[in-house]
Amino acid sequence: MQIAHQVDEMFKRQVKTWPLAATNYTALAQVETKKLTINGFDFVVQFNPARITSTAAQIDTQTIQERRCFLCLHHLPPEQEVLPFTAQSGHQYSVLCNPYPIFPHHLTIPDVNHTDQRISGRIDDMLELADLLPDFVLLYNGPKSGASAPDHFHFQAGNKGFLPIQILIDSDRSTQGYPLSFTHFQSENPGSITCGIQDPEPMLNLLCWKSHNKYHLILFPRKLHRPSQYYATGDAHILLSPGTIDLGGVLITPLQKDFNKLSVEDVTDIFKQIS
Ligand SMILES: [Zn+2]
Repeated sequence: MQIAHQVDEMFKRQVKTWPLAATNYTALAQVETKKLTINGFDFVVQFNPARITSTAAQIDTQTIQERRCFLCLHHLPPEQEVLPFTAQSGHQYSVLCNPYPIFPHHLTIPDVNHTDQRISGRIDDMLELADLLPDFVLLYNGPKSGASAPDHFHFQAGNKGFLPIQILIDSDRSTQGYPLSFTHFQSENPGSITCGIQDPEPMLNLLCWKSHNKYHLILFPRKLHRPSQYYATGDAHILLSPGTIDLGGVLITPLQKDFNKLSVEDVTDIFKQIS
């Protein structure tokens, strides 16, 4: 059976039989959103209280060493189904239903081994997954660019038709003036999309998908993990820790106060700081 079909079936079962997933996917269907237009480009702000753990995640070495890794197979909740996938590179992954969704269909795809979040040698895996999961966009957050588990390699995947940047690019509209820097690689031949990432890895976020027989890879270069608003106190504080999803056009605010007040000026300033 094709993996796309297996993922579909697994997802349907998980949101029915796993109470945590059922609750969070039902809640997601009712989350508040609002639209912000920056330089003519649409951004969506999503008020998503279930994402507080990820947004506020401490990723300093000590915290990471002392916590129980939530992506290791032996720590997964008993209700979590695991769909094994071996890439042509030999890397072995587990395809999982993400119980804290942002996308209506949200997957986490960790390596089976507890190994650092480093993209070197794995872009081919991302392209392969984009081919095998044609209804999904693959995401990668660098270890200091939004990954809440920098010590355990993982991709995420979310359904197409949700991230404004994917919709924009697939509609062939110009991306000139987009308020973030990015490089867009596209080709019908995945082998021609090469992107040598040096070690240590520079700060970056990646998005990858395949539409109309063409592979797309978007690379967002970063200069900062979290904006000053994240650390500010009082009225200036905004709990927003941007990762690939935010850069792709859906900004996640786990707190109602931030959802209410987040403005075009705030987002423009945050993007200037991190991009
Ligand atoms: Zn782990």
